[in-house]
Amino acid sequence: MTERLLERRQPLMDNHLPRDRALITIYRRLLARYGPQHWWPAEEPLEVIAGAILTQATAWGNVEKAIANLKSAGALSPEALRRLPLAEIAALIYPCGYYNAKALKLKAFARWLGEYYDDSLGRLFAGDTDHLRRQLLSLYGVGPETADSIILYAAGKPVFVIDAYTRRITGRIGLAPDSNSYTAYQDLFMENLPLDERLFNEYHALLVHLGQDVCRRRPRCRECPLGDICHFAGDVDAGDKVGLR
Ligand code: SF4
Repeated sequence: MTERLLERRQPLMDNHLPRDRALITIYRRLLARYGPQHWWPAEEPLEVIAGAILTQATAWGNVEKAIANLKSAGALSPEALRRLPLAEIAALIYPCGYYNAKALKLKAFARWLGEYYDDSLGRLFAGDTDHLRRQLLSLYGVGPETADSIILYAAGKPVFVIDAYTRRITGRIGLAPDSNSYTAYQDLFMENLPLDERLFNEYHALLVHLGQDVCRRRPRCRECPLGDICHFAGDVDAGDKVGLR
């Protein structure tokens, strides 16, 4: 990294830029570079829910294969997920890994949806967001990221989804909260951005795109649209040597 480049770089927090302006600046940069992401890649809300469960600890490409298998077997409905034997669902979702545990999670969700909401996602999503979130978090195999993905991308309600990419990128840029908790990261976004479902939808998708494109474990900062405002970019050469998160 040349001195000339380092001089031009003005990390956001070094400039004491308020967090709300910093987050909007990042969003605009990412949108300008990558364009709308059209998330979630699913045809209907139950497919979003199944995808949110199946994507735990696996790449999205594997989820697509599992969803395609469920669809072609006519298994992507609450009734079918309850009726089919666990082993059969596990075989259908085999491509996404942890298939026995994930089959149990799908069946648990379908059983709960039938018992309490008569299989109506419309009724499930009609309540307020906090109540919905508490209910989802009480289900087997549903943690904060999965619950929030369902709330944002299936129910269309404004919550910010925090994943590993979000933590990595905000940390490297210099915006990480004091606590490493899911809630602290979520508060960073939700307390400094308008409560806007479309904004949260697009922002999360763009962060995932950035994380997969250039802000990888070994980042490619020279190709990054945030390179001139990121704390970490100045250390990238050293980071290459020591191994990165
Ligand atoms: S790729 Fe580099 S410049 Fe871009 S956000 Fe990640 S660490 Fe910062």
